[in-house]
Amino acid sequence: MSIQNKQLKVLVIVPSWHYYADPVKHQPFWELYYATHLREAGYEVEVVDLRIAESDSFEDMTKSIVEADFYFYWIFKTGDALEIYSIVKILKKRFPKSIHAAGGTHVDKTPEDAKKHLDAIVIGPGEKSFLNIIEDTLKNNLSEVYASNYSEIPFSETLIPQRDFLPKELVVNNKLFTGYADVPGTLTYFSRGCIYRCSYCTYNVPNALQVRTPRQIKDEISYLKDRYAIKGILVKDEVAINPNKKICTETLNALQESDIIWRGQTTTLATLDQLKHAADSGCLELAIGVETADENVMKIIDKTWQDQKQILDFAENARKVGIKIKVCLILGLPGEPRDIVKKTINLLEELNPNFASVSGFLPVPGSPIANNPKKFGIKKIDNNWHKYSHLLFRFADNEEVGLPFEYDTSENSINVFSRQEIIENIIEVQKWLKDREMVY
Ligand code: SF4
Repeated sequence: MSIQNKQLKVLVIVPSWHYYADPVKHQPFWELYYATHLREAGYEVEVVDLRIAESDSFEDMTKSIVEADFYFYWIFKTGDALEIYSIVKILKKRFPKSIHAAGGTHVDKTPEDAKKHLDAIVIGPGEKSFLNIIEDTLKNNLSEVYASNYSEIPFSETLIPQRDFLPKELVVNNKLFTGYADVPGTLTYFSRGCIYRCSYCTYNVPNALQVRTPRQIKDEISYLKDRYAIKGILVKDEVAINPNKKICTETLNALQESDIIWRGQTTTLATLDQLKHAADSGCLELAIGVETADENVMKIIDKTWQDQKQILDFAENARKVGIKIKVCLILGLPGEPRDIVKKTINLLEELNPNFASVSGFLPVPGSPIANNPKKFGIKKIDNNWHKYSHLLFRFADNEEVGLPFEYDTSENSINVFSRQEIIENIIEVQKWLKDREMVY
């Protein structure tokens, strides 16, 4: 490719994350990650951050976006899909020669629909695919689909996302460690994917745990400390305490040697020894996906690798080593019994976590439940993806964009709750948590 070609302009767009009460609290890791790969290959790349857009109107939001040759997107959450497709439409009209391509979990799971909105789609990781899209366009040979396999692109051998694409205030803030004094923090991933297959989930892409090497972990933290004076990290990995003992030890050693505090999320399979090591490495808090207080629902959602004894043991072990826990629950899952609210509150009382969050169940496209709704007693799914959020009534009483489905509640159905009743259940548990100051 000639130098001239390398002077092409590439914009990576971060959507508004409209479903969050505070979209700038978390940082757009994947957009920065792929922008870094493109810049490393020699292209002129900018990241456009719509999280700070002042209007909800897609037309207004996109007014300040300048002309570029390529616009790339990473649709990690279904809730972003309609916004991104609308932006593509507007920008295509304004800049007809521009090429628009997206990857991400939502695209992986709904390729046929994604193709209708984009010039090219990326299936699997995007490290090579976005570059191939540029190169093929220049050869007048753009394909519709760019697929690569996660097993061919280990996360351990890729670049550390550079944060200088965004102003400092969008990279670092003190909100990620609210309640822990003044901790400038940012978000990162030290692994991608998950080995489990919970039936409501699509975050297990890839269905394996690809990890960063200890060297990379230390280099990234060192970069964040030197450049942004970061003192705390939100480790956004789906499973921060790796079930593989050797990897777990190496990762936690790297964190410990980096002298940083961190919080993250993990499974309840973490052992006392692992939790002790996590505490020694600077871990202050772990979120765990308890999901439901009902053992039958736990089976329905294919999470039989955890039961209430294990959850209670984890909580006790975390307390022993001084790690705070945040319990994540979902209400509205298939098969919930009439007394789910009572059961949930009983479990919360028994667990006595420091924090808890309640989400509304979301039949995310591509998840086993959304792929086979009848089996789970769902009679109707609303495909308006703009409504796809699981955060309901957590931060505001009018925060209600989720539950885009309706159960069959007839006599032989496994489900008993209407959409309205699920809403009422969520409000009741949210109120219980708010009264005890367990929500943040
Ligand atoms: S819910 Fe968590 S543990 Fe289950 S598949 Fe998804 S990422 Fe993995």
